[in-house]
Amino acid sequence: MLDLLIRGGLVMDGSGNPGYHGAVGVEGEELRIFRGDSAVEARRYIDATGHVVCPGFIDMHSHGGLTILKEPRHEPKVRQGITTELVGIDGNSVAPFKTREELQRFIELDSGLNDTAPEGVGWSGVAEYLSHYDGTVAVNIAYILGNSPVRIWSVGWNDRPATGEELEDMKAVVREAMEEGAFGLSTGLDYPPGAYADTDELVELSSVVGAMGGFYHTHTRASLRAQGLLAPWEEALDIGRRGGIPVHLTHYRQNSQGDGSHLDYIGLVEDARAEGMDVTFDCYPYIYSSTRAIISIPNWTKDGGPERLKEVLTSPDDRARLKEDMLSGGGRRNPSEGWLTNFKKPHNKQYEGHSLTEIARMRGQHYLDAFFDLLVDDGLGICSVRPGVNGQTLPAFVAHPFGMVGSDAVLLGDYPSPRTYGCFPVILAEFVRAEKHLRLPEAVRKMTSFPAQRLGLKSRGLLRDGMKADVVVFNPDTVKAPATAANPKQFPLGIPYVIVNGEPVIDGGDHTGATPGRALRFGRD
Ligand SMILES: [Zn+2]
Repeated sequence: MLDLLIRGGLVMDGSGNPGYHGAVGVEGEELRIFRGDSAVEARRYIDATGHVVCPGFIDMHSHGGLTILKEPRHEPKVRQGITTELVGIDGNSVAPFKTREELQRFIELDSGLNDTAPEGVGWSGVAEYLSHYDGTVAVNIAYILGNSPVRIWSVGWNDRPATGEELEDMKAVVREAMEEGAFGLSTGLDYPPGAYADTDELVELSSVVGAMGGFYHTHTRASLRAQGLLAPWEEALDIGRRGGIPVHLTHYRQNSQGDGSHLDYIGLVEDARAEGMDVTFDCYPYIYSSTRAIISIPNWTKDGGPERLKEVLTSPDDRARLKEDMLSGGGRRNPSEGWLTNFKKPHNKQYEGHSLTEIARMRGQHYLDAFFDLLVDDGLGICSVRPGVNGQTLPAFVAHPFGMVGSDAVLLGDYPSPRTYGCFPVILAEFVRAEKHLRLPEAVRKMTSFPAQRLGLKSRGLLRDGMKADVVVFNPDTVKAPATAANPKQFPLGIPYVIVNGEPVIDGGDHTGATPGRALRFGRD
């Protein structure tokens, strides 16, 4: 007998095919699919009349890897229908590290993007790290190796080229992480110390990953924009060609400055595909980006790790140099755009959701002095949210057949980007239903089988007999993402059931508290 039968709904299998009338059964962790009316018996039935039944959504850009260890229910994400997340993005994976002390240093520097670990919890190797997710969290976690820990392991925290010996050592670290279950290599070439790697170094590391069947997931190097609008993405394709590795361009979009045409970006990918390359991308469907606030501070201040940055922020000479550098455009982003969130100290809570300009006025300081003082007082975990995406051309990226969905959700502070709570449902509600930029079966494909194919997941992303029972039931007429910039922490509506590994996590709109998720391992899942 089946454990569960979801019947009466429109079964959209994730392939891009239109839906059919059928029933989706769950037996243990696996799917049993029935076309038409099914009289098969089950211990429990879910009536999906008026709803779409489809595979669980896969988030190709998650910053929830540490947060979910503290909040295993993972409500903001699982309520969107997400059943698998790719963590370790932007070069910033939290394994491997030689020691727990080194892990803590990395987490401190990165805490405005990827949160902190639960008190007293740590690890060093990849296998040890991944074991923390097995049966303890609401969704499945796929991990990609970031080049920052690889560089810290072999080269250290400084801005210098790797020696030949260090390069060989890094390749061994990469090989071992892949063997222990990494799905590929990620970079975030605005984030030190990974950003200190040059193109040749990344080609070498990628060639190891490519030979083992993994892919290259990249937040590209913004500093290259000085050489041309598309130069950051051309570097990524160059790494793909020379390293023999599929390339995945993350949060791919035209930025809000609006220079060039979005067709240049789309054309870059289409030309590479025409040339025979395996290139894909993801994007999030909001104009608001978010990341650690210290991204606005030039990379020379991080040459030596978090201690060096804190020293620069407190020593009068360094600080004067930093201020001068940033005022003359040396920081790559203006920290006064958008707003700040994730303040920890009670006396700083008054600044939640305010712009740096407002905060400077509240404190009676120059905005950079206010910024530096707050980073010293509150710690490096302050998060910044800002309008960074051209909303006019965003639909071309969201709807493109070579694109998938990466929420880039940062689950921190009282005022996160609205994408944190609304990424997947806003596509179904706004981009599909209201504005008709793409058809529903295609949107479902881009959230399910396409990312599963990119990752190399053999048993997820489609509704087929014997595949893993990650399932979403949503109402295509009412699904909605009410999260806004002013009120971002609002759960989606119209997604009553989310099933992970055969177990309901969202059941009739309520979170069951179940934690059936686990770490997925490359080649074994
Ligand atoms: Zn990111």
